[in-house]
Amino acid sequence: MSAYDCVVIGAGPGGYVAAIRAAQLGLKTAVIEKESPGGVCLNWGCIPSKAILKSAELFTTMKHAQDFGLKVQGVEADFDGIIKRSRGVVDKMTGGVRFLLKKNKVDLIMGHARIKPGNTITVTDSANKESAVTFKKCIIATGARARLVPTLPVDYERIITYRQALELKERPSKLLVIGAGAIGIEFSYFFNAMGTEVTVVEMLDQILPIEDQEVSKALEKNFTKTGIKIKTKAGIESLVRKGQTVSALIKGQDGSVEQWTGDMCLVAIGFQGNVEDLGLEQLGVRTEKSFIPVDKYYQTSVPNIYAIGDVIGAPMLAHVASHEGIVAAEHLANHETHPVDYTSVPGCTFCQPQVASIGLTEKAARDKGYKVRVGKFPFSASGKAVATNEAEGFVKVVIDETVEEILGVHIIHPEATELIGEASIIKTHEGVASSVFNTIHAHPTLSEALMEAMGDALGRAIHI
Ligand code: FAD
Repeated sequence: MSAYDCVVIGAGPGGYVAAIRAAQLGLKTAVIEKESPGGVCLNWGCIPSKAILKSAELFTTMKHAQDFGLKVQGVEADFDGIIKRSRGVVDKMTGGVRFLLKKNKVDLIMGHARIKPGNTITVTDSANKESAVTFKKCIIATGARARLVPTLPVDYERIITYRQALELKERPSKLLVIGAGAIGIEFSYFFNAMGTEVTVVEMLDQILPIEDQEVSKALEKNFTKTGIKIKTKAGIESLVRKGQTVSALIKGQDGSVEQWTGDMCLVAIGFQGNVEDLGLEQLGVRTEKSFIPVDKYYQTSVPNIYAIGDVIGAPMLAHVASHEGIVAAEHLANHETHPVDYTSVPGCTFCQPQVASIGLTEKAARDKGYKVRVGKFPFSASGKAVATNEAEGFVKVVIDETVEEILGVHIIHPEATELIGEASIIKTHEGVASSVFNTIHAHPTLSEALMEAMGDALGRAIHI
């Protein structure tokens, strides 16, 4: 039986990063994975979804080539080719994770891990062969899966989750998307761009419910213009599959009920943690509503067992999982570390136009009692955005009225997810609005818009 200082269960962006950090700190480390290195992120989440979204974007741009003075004829989408390309990207990236683990001398053990009393983990491989390892410290990084509820009967064929959506053989012609969070919205954009008739149903009063109201409204306007039907404050009364058809009764806020019939439904209503079949009850590791509660260094109710990533709950993002993994690894190795600052976590939605934000929305800042100043800069006033035909959207910043602290940055633009990086650095390092405004930004670049929005909040903007 191999003995390790640190064993990580799950090789997603939380687990593999934690394992590498533990090994860097001199611990003999193994990571156990039952499916494929890279977890949901690389295999069924961030990466393949961005691959297909790129195809959708390019397809849309090519159809509008004349806007750039180009003549392109006969552009067609090859749905099968798009999915195949995305799976190729996944293979490349998972190979990269294997390489990194090897380079850092982390043992990758493939199989299903179960923790036993006595700091032992048994591993059952795909041939049902069992082995065991021992650990001094263990990190649970088993992630999460799509939340299912009996009223939305997922059958994985016509009523599907994100996972089936990423390996469909054929494009649906009429799709109902239930849930307008980042995942529902990205798939809505993708399928609509491919030519599918898309309806999105959201229980809350705006799409992308955690984003700033103005940004969500702007995205809703754009989506509606491209033909996506959006129903907010709406619920699903019933959802049934009959043969190749799916039918739903959608109940609006006013009590009206509308019948929807199409050929596919994507359920994207949230996630539940992978806490089952791990041996947690036997060990006394506490769980709460399918997630594992932890302290600020990610210790569970059993001190030598840590938990990180999606399995500990929101914010369920790959970069959050990785940072939690680093903090947990450093803490268990008795290395100096700092708890994650959850007020400085960027969130991105990769539809077109993209949405990216960090910190508080204007409403959340006001609700918290801040006296705020808001600055805005529309990309229609950006030379770079107009030159590249991407003049849609805006940057909105929310700052504290007196000390100029940056409370939130919200961007809607085709390149928003890259632009949020600058806001992340400045917010993480507690820079103030004038630090951004007084920084020389290259011209012509989209990043000038953040500088100008800060200037607007300070009453000093030049270009609006
Ligand atoms: P996971 O990535 O879920 O990895 C957990 C791993 O543990 C899995 O590989 C699993 O097989 C393994 N495992 C589970 N149980 C066991 C066991 N008992 N034994 C051995 N192995 C086990 N996040 C972003 O930040 N940006 C995005 O753009 C983004 N896009 C997304 C798009 C989609 C469609 C989806 C579904 C998610 C997206 N996410 C995105 C979320 C992101 O994928 C997750 O936040 C991230 O993968 C969480 O990492 P993790 O390491 O906690 O868990």
